[in-house]
Amino acid sequence: MTTTSEIQATDSAHYMHPFTDHKGLAGKGARIITKADGIHIWDSENKKIFDAMSGLWCVNVGYGRQELVDAATKQMQELPYYNSFFQTTNVPAVKLAERIVGLAGDNFSHVFFSSSGSESNDTNIRMVRHYWATLGQPERKVIISRNNAYHGSTMAGASLGGMSGMHAQGGLPIPDIVHIEQPYHYGLAPTKDKDAFGLEAAGWLEAKILEIGADKVAAFIGEPVQGAGGVIIPPKTYWPEIQRICDKYGILLICDEVICGFGRLGKWFGSELLGAKPDLMTFAKGVTSGYLPLGGVVIGKRVADVLINQGGEFNHGYTYSGHPVACAVALANIDIIESEGLVDKVLKETGPYLAERYAELANHPLVGGAETCGLVAGFALMKDKVNHIPFDESLEVGMICRNHSFANGLIMRAVGDRMIIAPPLCITKAQIDEMMVLITETLDATLAD
Ligand code: PLP
Repeated sequence: MTTTSEIQATDSAHYMHPFTDHKGLAGKGARIITKADGIHIWDSENKKIFDAMSGLWCVNVGYGRQELVDAATKQMQELPYYNSFFQTTNVPAVKLAERIVGLAGDNFSHVFFSSSGSESNDTNIRMVRHYWATLGQPERKVIISRNNAYHGSTMAGASLGGMSGMHAQGGLPIPDIVHIEQPYHYGLAPTKDKDAFGLEAAGWLEAKILEIGADKVAAFIGEPVQGAGGVIIPPKTYWPEIQRICDKYGILLICDEVICGFGRLGKWFGSELLGAKPDLMTFAKGVTSGYLPLGGVVIGKRVADVLINQGGEFNHGYTYSGHPVACAVALANIDIIESEGLVDKVLKETGPYLAERYAELANHPLVGGAETCGLVAGFALMKDKVNHIPFDESLEVGMICRNHSFANGLIMRAVGDRMIIAPPLCITKAQIDEMMVLITETLDATLAD
């Protein structure tokens, strides 16, 4: 099994991939990624590809970081595994919990570790329900989320998510999870004043709370900027109003920072940039820059006080919670982000530069609603952007564009007809220029199709 076609044949015979239409791969075979360095990956035919998605929104410090390899090797030699169940702990997990609480700010005191965003969001559900039950309000268990959100693939994660395709498979959502519309200004109300739309969209939360009864609602969950839902950047009025509504009804606020956390929006956590003060924050991906699986929940003092001081034993945990090697890599990853000043660089240099370049991209005849926030960006492919007419869904223009992008040596993702990117935080301005050339060429090829 050495040639591309041999590996592809074995792949298709034995490996069921996540989120893949295997029939669609028939006769073509999957692209085999063999190596990576900086912001580039290479396939088995030695084609160099610009990875404008940081893998799956995670390789924030870029590929090929020897510091992370060294941290993993050293920790594997010292203590490759031990758990934190039953009154044991390990040093990298302790150090990482302290470090993350320090980055999250005064409102937070503890961290619970898992190995993924999905497990972390399951943890969130269990935590908020245990919180309300401990306070004598067990009927307060409804969690409000948003359409088109992605919060993971476990039963609870997919239920929190608002992806209709996922709900259709397997009878989701599980009970007591409901959804409101996403704050997608360009898609839902492009002619409306943006700030007024932000308030209106946040108002959908209040309407839902009143419909259900505030005494039944446990929490609201949302990503500061929805990622997999199409990079939906809310108007600046949205999150402060969501916060006001949660405070008014005493509802816990969970920010899913799996994509936005660890610097992607130009702050350590996206909620800080957008004006929310969550009680719980989900993290994963960027905490290790994807070098090893690690996730968790940063727990605010309001929740920690109840869970830790009043709640008794929390009957929840994973074999790999606080995995020492993953935690050691996360610590080394945070060292890189800090020593290279990547968070501030996104806020002050690369983020604004990407915004400038995306403003120019908006002149392309196919591009509608181009927007950026830090180092996430998206636009809609429009049939007639002047009159705001999208393409017929059945044409799958997003897929066509994505295929041109692949062929052109660029990883850009399609969510329906929205094209999205999230390049590594170590990207330079010159590399942003290089990426914009690839995006423009891809759009031209799509237009010519
Ligand atoms: N939450 C968000 C916002 C995500 O984007 C993702 C994954 O893309 C998840 C949760 C699930 O994370 P994981 O794939 O690590 O389970």
